Amino acid sequence: MIRLILNLFPRPLLQRLAGLTAPLIGLFYSVGRGQKGSGHGVQCPLCGARYRKFMPYGYVETRPNALCPNCLALERHRLLWLWIERQTDLLQSAAEPTTALRLLHIAPEVCLSRKFEKIFPPENYVTADLESPLAKVRADVQALPFEDASFDVVMCNHVLEHVLDDLLAMRELRRVTRPGGWGVLLVPIDEARTETFEDDSITDPVGRTKIFGQYDHRRIYGHDYADRLRHAGWNVEEIDYLAHLTTDERSLYGLRKEILYIVHK
Ligand SMILES: [Zn+2]
Repeated sequence: MIRLILNLFPRPLLQRLAGLTAPLIGLFYSVGRGQKGSGHGVQCPLCGARYRKFMPYGYVETRPNALCPNCLALERHRLLWLWIERQTDLLQSAAEPTTALRLLHIAPEVCLSRKFEKIFPPENYVTADLESPLAKVRADVQALPFEDASFDVVMCNHVLEHVLDDLLAMRELRRVTRPGGWGVLLVPIDEARTETFEDDSITDPVGRTKIFGQYDHRRIYGHDYADRLRHAGWNVEEIDYLAHLTTDERSLYGLRKEILYIVHK
């Protein structure tokens, strides 16, 4: 059912509705009285909600234990959040307006943007997207309406696989980042591919789903993704952060192995 909904309805509509309906569905997953504190179940590190398990999610193959019914965080958001919290000074920086880093968030995921909005002074947190109702600035990531070096940190997750010229987008993101700044640029990676595959002649939604894994994807990245980022001028760190966490943390937070692509200028 989840797969059907994801493929049938346009994403902006889902983004508006999901915040209302998912918490209701979440009631079915909630922890029973007797189970609380028994050591079983999961907890979302972003919103703190506890469940028996997370909801299933996926466009092509549905993954069990994936989506937080309360804040809509997926495995990758929970892993990224733990990394940000424990390994960077991004969140601490925002405690004082004088030290707060300036963050650009393209295609803001609601689970992350809710947190950033609470933590950052409004002028330090900028959200941008072509169509998402969650973004404040209408912008194409291939032509960003921002000055050179105007952000300390850029975040752009699961966007580049939708963009016509991803190299141009990678360069644009680097242009608006200050020297010494960094970014999080996650994309879906096909573990079986060494090289990224793209074919602009495949434009129909069914063909794209079959070949690229989602109806609105233009390419499917392989292990050369980091090289593409380097080609755009970034220094790239590929972090297997799951390997740094304990078995208990992995099951409590419902995580799976996903490489964090962290870029530095
Ligand atoms: Zn959550």
